[in-house]
Parts: sequence; C-alpha cells; structure tokens
Amino acid sequence: MRKKIVAGNWKMNLTSVQSEDLVAGISEKLKNFDSNGKRIIVAPTFVNLVPVINCEDRDTAIEVAAQNMHQASSGAYTGEIAANMLQTIGVPNVILGHSERRAYFGETDTLLAEKVEVALEHNMQIIFCFGEELEDRKAGKHFDVVESQLKNALFQLPDSAWKDIVLAYEPVWAIGTGETASPEQAQEMHEFIRKTIALAYGNAIADEVSILYGGSVKPANAKEIFSKPDVDGGLIGGASLKADDFFAIIDAM
Ligand code: PEP
Repeated sequence: MRKKIVAGNWKMNLTSVQSEDLVAGISEKLKNFDSNGKRIIVAPTFVNLVPVINCEDRDTAIEVAAQNMHQASSGAYTGEIAANMLQTIGVPNVILGHSERRAYFGETDTLLAEKVEVALEHNMQIIFCFGEELEDRKAGKHFDVVESQLKNALFQLPDSAWKDIVLAYEPVWAIGTGETASPEQAQEMHEFIRKTIALAYGNAIADEVSILYGGSVKPANAKEIFSKPDVDGGLIGGASLKADDFFAIIDAM
C-alpha cells in the first residue's frame, strides 16, 4: 500500500528559534491526532536541520528532509552540502529537483539524474519534484514535459530504487502564486504519471509510488485535492510555515 505523505518545504525562511517553534507547534497539534500511518515531513534550511532534529518538543514521528544536496561526495565546492553530511546528522530525506532549484540555480534533468543516484547510494529517500511551466500547459505540452523530466532524471534507475522515491508533481504556475491546479487537473496528471511509470517499470512499482501534489495547497483546498485517487498527499510551501495551517492540511489528508 503506498503511503500518504504531507511534506512542508520551509524554503529560505525562519531562524533556528523560529524553526524549533514551528516544529514544536506542529508537534503540539499532533498530540491527540492519529496519523494512521501517514508520513509527515518538514524541510528546514540546512543550518536549521540540526536544531529541528534535536528540538526536545519535536514529535519524533515528524521526519526531516533537506531541501537540496550536491552530487559530489566531498571536495572544492564552496557553499555546498554532500549526502553523507546529511546522513550523518540524521537527515534521511532530501528534496531534489524543486522548480526553484531548476529556475534559479540552473539544475537540469541530467544533473538531477546524478544527484538522485548519489542520494540513493547514501541510502537517502528522495522527494523528486517536477512539473510544467505555464507556457507548456498553454501550448498543450504539459504531458510531454512531465514525461521527459521523469525519463531523463529517473528512468535510468533499477526497479529496486523506486521504494526510496516519492514524486512531487508541482506545476510551476501554481507554486507560490495562489493559483492551484484544479483537483481534476491534478488527478489527470497524476494518473498520467502513474501510467508512464507502469509502462516503464510495471504496475506493481507504479502502484506503490506515492505521488504528491504541490502548488498553493492550503487548508481550504487540501481536502478536495487529496480526495483524488492518484494524489497521495502534498508538498506544501507557504502554508507549511504556520502550525495551524500545516496541521489542517495534514488533517485533510
Ligand atoms: C513548493 O514550493 O513546493 C510549493 C508547493 O509552494 P507553495 O505551496 O507556496 O505553492
């Protein structure tokens, strides 16, 4: 049975104290909540990973993810962070391919294929983000774009790797814009993604992969989006920065 997941991408927000407060606030909300096997993940900035991991008030069921990592194991890459550095401080998950990394830091499918391999070599679980731009959708190319992002970055992987991959479909036009894909648009794309994986890897793997939707999910729209059969949860940006909103989204799943 594939897992339901709500992951919060805190991006370049919050000081360490604010990060601790936020994870403590979410933990407080989860006290009498039966998460029923759902995974809850938060992704603070690199410098706030340890404070969040060590926060005494963190419900240990809340997992932690890094927002990025470098593809090399070590070396002269000023300002970068390697997989084993994350691993050894107790970070088991990493977000790769976020559209902001692609747009502002030039991350390509080829680079992401490399990062994916390195993360897996270090036994990390990956939340792999992808999605089309507005022009692609307007031109009716959104399925082609998504298919090529998946094929270029992930379809070199052996079957065994897929247990460590979570997909996050995030149409770029919906990220941080307040504009959300309709539940029908999300379902249509998620179904397409699952079929694309089934064609390459078979139904068993496709059925097991969790596919999250990301793009302006908030308490008011989460339930409807999560009700779709191929939507297994969400990657949440803005609304993950407030404990009340993030909890409401978890509760909606
Ligand atoms: C994101 O950055 O992954 C995201 C989905 O952001 P927001 O929820 O703010 O659109």
